[in-house]
This record gives sequence, C-alpha cells and structure tokens, in this order.
Amino acid sequence: MQGKTKKKPSVGFIIFLVITLAIVGYAIYQFLQPQLKILNLSYFENRLIENAKTPIDNNFFYKVVFDINDYRIRVVESVDGEIDAYAIVANPHVIAKFQTGSALLSPAIKNQLENPNITTYSELVSLAIKTSPSSYLGLSLEKISLLNRYLSLAGAERFSKSFLPSISSADRPSPTFFQYFLSYLPTIVTLLVFIWFIYRINRGSQGGAGFFNPGKNQAIRIKSDKKYSDVAGNVEAKEEIAEFIDYLKNPTRYAAAGAKIPRGILLGGPPGTGKTLLAKATAGEANVPFFFISASNFVELYVGVGAKRVRELFKDARNDSPAIIFIDELDAIGRSRGSGIGGGNDEREQTLNQLLVEMDGMVENSGLLVIGATNRTDVLDPALLRPGRFDRSIIVGLPDVKEREEILKLHAKGKRISKNITLANIAKRTPGFSGAQLANVINEATLLSVREQTQVITNEQIDEAIDRVIGGPAKKNRVITEKERIMVAYHEAGHAVVGLKLKSGVKVQKITIVPRGSSGGYNLMLPEEEKYNSTKSELLASIAAFMGGRAAEEIKYGKAEISSGAANDIEKATKLARKMVTEWGMSTLGPIQYEQDQSSPFLGRDYIKNASFSSKVGHEIDIEIRQIISESYQKAFNTINNNLLLLELIKDTLLEKETIVYEEIQKLAETLAPLPEATKTENEAIKPKEILDEILKFESEAEKDFENS
Ligand code: ADP
Ligand code: ZN
Repeated sequence: MQGKTKKKPSVGFIIFLVITLAIVGYAIYQFLQPQLKILNLSYFENRLIENAKTPIDNNFFYKVVFDINDYRIRVVESVDGEIDAYAIVANPHVIAKFQTGSALLSPAIKNQLENPNITTYSELVSLAIKTSPSSYLGLSLEKISLLNRYLSLAGAERFSKSFLPSISSADRPSPTFFQYFLSYLPTIVTLLVFIWFIYRINRGSQGGAGFFNPGKNQAIRIKSDKKYSDVAGNVEAKEEIAEFIDYLKNPTRYAAAGAKIPRGILLGGPPGTGKTLLAKATAGEANVPFFFISASNFVELYVGVGAKRVRELFKDARNDSPAIIFIDELDAIGRSRGSGIGGGNDEREQTLNQLLVEMDGMVENSGLLVIGATNRTDVLDPALLRPGRFDRSIIVGLPDVKEREEILKLHAKGKRISKNITLANIAKRTPGFSGAQLANVINEATLLSVREQTQVITNEQIDEAIDRVIGGPAKKNRVITEKERIMVAYHEAGHAVVGLKLKSGVKVQKITIVPRGSSGGYNLMLPEEEKYNSTKSELLASIAAFMGGRAAEEIKYGKAEISSGAANDIEKATKLARKMVTEWGMSTLGPIQYEQDQSSPFLGRDYIKNASFSSKVGHEIDIEIRQIISESYQKAFNTINNNLLLLELIKDTLLEKETIVYEEIQKLAETLAPLPEATKTENEAIKPKEILDEILKFESEAEKDFENS
C-alpha cells in the first residue's frame, strides 16, 4: 500500500497517549523535585515566619530553626540564645552545597540564631556537623509536638517520634532520576503492557477484525499518489477507465445533465497485470479517496460479518464521496451462487447479496465508483454483471513485447543499468511475464547488483533475475553428479538442436543446466514474438523440439538409459498434440471439435472437459495423438543424428558455461566451433573508466529529470 492512510485516532490511542504523557510528566516532576527544593530552601523559612504569628510561635522560633527539605531536616536548637545543638539531617549533596557555598544566612535565620559568629550557611552546616545528629533523637515529646506544629505550619510532613530514627539515618543520598525511574519501572512496564493490550483490541475493532466489533469496515482508505504515467501499456484499459475521472471530479455536473454513469467497473485479467495499479491511478488522477479491500477479507468466521462489513464500507465511502471503492479478488465472494463443492456457502452468499443491495441502492451520480478486480471473470455470478452493478467490463491482459519494454523502462527508471543491456531485448526474453513479474525482475537484478557490488546492473544479473522470477532462486549448491550433469546437458542440447534445425521450428531463447526448482535444467522455447495463431507445421515443430531432449538421451545413452527428465516435455507435447486433434482439427479426424477446454473454476483444470465423443472416437483420438508424437519424436531423433557435432558443441558449451543464450547457440551453429574465449572475458572485465562514465551519465540524466519535473 502506498499513500497515507487517514484514520480517526482511536479512543484507545488517546488513552494511551494521555497515560504515557502522565507517566513521563510525573517522572520529570520527580526528577526535578529535590533540586527545586534545594534551590528554594529559604521558601520554608519564609513560610515559617509568615505563619508564626503568635507569641508562642515566636518564642519557639528562638529555640528552633529548621529548614525542611523534603525528608531532610536541619534543626538548630537554642535555649535562651545559647546554642544547644546543631543537628543536620540532610542528604550529603545538600550539605555539600551549603558547605562549599558562601551564601549568607537569610536575616530571619540569622536573627533567630542569635549567634553573630555564624553568618553563612556553610558555617551553620559545619557547626551542625560537629554536633551529633543523635543529639536530637532524645527530643522530648513536648518538643516533638512543637516541631510537628511548625512542620505543619511550614507545610511539611509530620515529624513523628517513630519517624525520627529514619530521619537521622536519612543521610542516604537522595535517589537520582535513574533510581526513581528504576523504582517505577515495574509499574510503568505493567501499565504499558496493559495499555498496549487495550490499544490492540481497540485498533482491531477500528480496522474491522476487532474483538469488540467484528463487522467494522475493513477497507484501507488511502490517498493515491499514483498517476496514469505510472502505468505502462494497457492503453485501451487506461482509455476506458479514464472516462470516469471527469465524472469523479464533478459528479454533480453529470447529475445535472442527467447522464447515467456506471456504478461498477470490472477489471478482469491475470494476476500482476496492474489492475490494482490502474484503479489506484484513477483515484490519483481524479484526486479522490481510494478504499481498498480484498473480497476475501469480507468473509470471516461468523455468519453476517461479511454483510456488515460491506455495509460499513459503503457507508464510510458514501461519507467520503466522491470516492473509489476497489474490491480485489471479487471472485472470492462473487462466484455464482449455489455452486461450488459442498454446496452453497451461507456467509459468502449473504456477503454477495449485501454487495448487490448496496450497489442497487447507490444513489445515481453520488460520486461513488466501485471497481472490482478478478482473474476469474468466468466464474462470477451473472447477477453481479447486470446493469447498475458491474456493467462495464475492462480486460487487463498480459503485456505484449512492446508493453513489456515500456513496463521495464518505467521500473528501470533511476536504476543504474549497464549500457550493454537493451530493455527491448529483455522484453523479448520475457514473453508471458506480467507487469508485476517484470517489476520483480528489475528489483531482483538491483538486489544482485548491490550484493555483487558491480555499480551497475549487468547482463548476467538481469539473466539471473529472470531465472529467479521464473523458477525461484537457482540452487547452485544442489549436489548433482558429473554424470547427471552431462546427461542434462545432452538433453537440453537436444532441444536446442531440434529447435534450431527444423524449419519453422521455435528458436530456443536460452538453455541452462543450473537446476531450478524441481526440474533439472530448463530451456525457454518461446517464439520471438508471441503467436496467437500457429500453423500446423509450427505446432509439429514445437512438439518435435519438446521431444528433442529425450531423443538426444536415447542417441547418446541408448534406449534403456533414458531418464525421467523428459516428463515435463512429454506433458507439454501431449497437450499440444491433443489440442491439435480435438480442438484445432489438425488430424485425419477432421475439423471437428471433440473437446472444449472449459477449465472448471471449482475442480482443477482438466477434470471437467466437455467431451463429446464416443469411446470409439476416443480411441481414434488416442491413436492420432500417438501418431503425431511418435512422428515428431522420429523427426527429432533424425535431426539430432544428422547434427551430432552441433549437439556435442552445445553440450560442451553448456557444461562449461552452464547457461547459454540464443545468440550463442546461433553462433555455435554457424561456426561449428567452440565459442571464442573473448565473449566470456568481455563480460566479466568491467573497466573502471566505463563504469565511471556510466555513473556520471546516469547522474547527469537524473539531474535533468529532476530539473524537468
Ligand atoms: P493486479 O492487481 O493486476 O494483480 P497489481 O496492480 O497489484 O496487479 O500490480 C502489481 C505491481 O506490478 C504494480 O504495483 C506495479 O509495480 C507492477 N505493474 C503491473 N502492471 C504494470 C504496468 N502495466 N505498468 C507498470 N507497472 C506494472
Ligand atoms: Zn526437456
């Protein structure tokens, strides 16, 4: 999710904030407290004088002078002007402060001391230190009550007898902030944990999956910062959806004109093709809030929750209109009702019904636009597609080669890519990739270039990134024996030779013997540009190329030693052959449709094939398929047998380099000689000067971009 989410702060959060502030405030107060009092020692003296209004008080004053500083009390006792004892109970750093300073006693104290020799606090303190602190432990009850009286006059705590010993031993240093903090720590931690817990529960209910309020709106509201310039390709879809921008900007004008604007748009297409991106960009262009939710989030454990969430979502969006509601994976709730394994699903149906109700109830031109996305438009409940609901359907398909280049260009912006790389070539090498996968390729390559510290993204890194996106990270460390490796190399070389040598054969784009995922090696046999329509000879050549791997194994190792590595090839070849016979009418059985590829949404593909033939015809189909396959196999076998030198060459190169690409295979076939060493070293030797030039170029370009924007 990009963009900022705007949410009203929850009650829990506010409580959390207030309590945290209170704790911090209290800690600071505690920290400052002793210091404040030390600075304002005379405050207590002044209080005392102010309050000591009666003669008795005054009388006592002559006898006892004390400062109260929290628990630190200094008592100077004098009887008839003669000093009996100076006792000081204070923490050392208070005493030290007085000892070192030359601050004069306040006149009030000085008068009451009736000892002209003592004029400063430090003198008073040293005198007090000389006399034993224990001397006033034996204070009479009468004196204690008097002390208490004055203490209370001064606004201090009571001075009880039982309190005394602890006072006299209170010479301990006053706690530092850290000690205060430590003593409060358990309390603070417990409180924080408790508050955090409450906050979590509360936030849950804000988001929707909450403990207290399971039906709350789950959608994420974002302010989209995407624009159409962030979407490459998809021109038609972009144009179609762009019609709504103006509507979202001023719905009232459309209302005034009486124009009926669709309430829902359905974006259909494979995952990662930019459906979400397109919807976000529309919100960004129209500058309206974007409510994002995945339909699978509607449906929860409890029946009725989904419906409630739908209701809440629409309510929130209405309050915020004009706005876009984006429902991803619409098929999660939008499948045809009453179907699916195990019968209907009450909760899902209720949710779907609620969605239909909300869409029907949407006031015309309220400025609300619902965009649904799915990669299974075929399974959607027809009720969803009726007028007034998702009645506009836009297909967002996989990008073609030109679009792939544009997408790559978009994502490569600002990345340092070696000038040896042309994005057009990468686009050619990535047929069938979605926008998300292409973005991923660039991203993986960037990560690799950072890890390998190459300054710029190199060709090898792009190759590796493509492979990763196709089949997960390379498992270079998987243990395979040299014998296995050679066999895989022969197998892959077999594919390449057949692809290369057969007329109208599909050129192998790249072969590798680095194991990936479950398959030993893999080769990309893809046409240079995608074909939507293939001829019979092309299809046969493809099947032969699939057979090339197995044929090479048989030629080199004999019939008994062929491996299981061809399973995938056989599967693909069989599928193609079957389609040729049953769907495309390319066999002696004639142009009759025997099967309909109708992959079931609920059962896996191929479980339900609409077969319309008798068992006799079924047998004939099998014979036709077998014939196609065996003829293709023979063709592959012969082709390889006639090009054994090339097979060996490709195998050797593969063993050496592990991965070779189309251009290299082509070169091998032309020269029938090993690749020159130079091509290898050329790639590896990165000349510092070149890198510097490229970096400078990128930087100046980036600057230009910056200035232009
Ligand atoms: P979908 O919703 O169709 O599954 P997304 O919109 O989530 O796909 O696409 C995922 C990511 O793939 C996007 O965020 C973007 O980076 C990238 N992407 C996909 N299609 C395009 C495109 N046409 N142009 C640019 N980037 C794309
Ligand atoms: Zn193979």
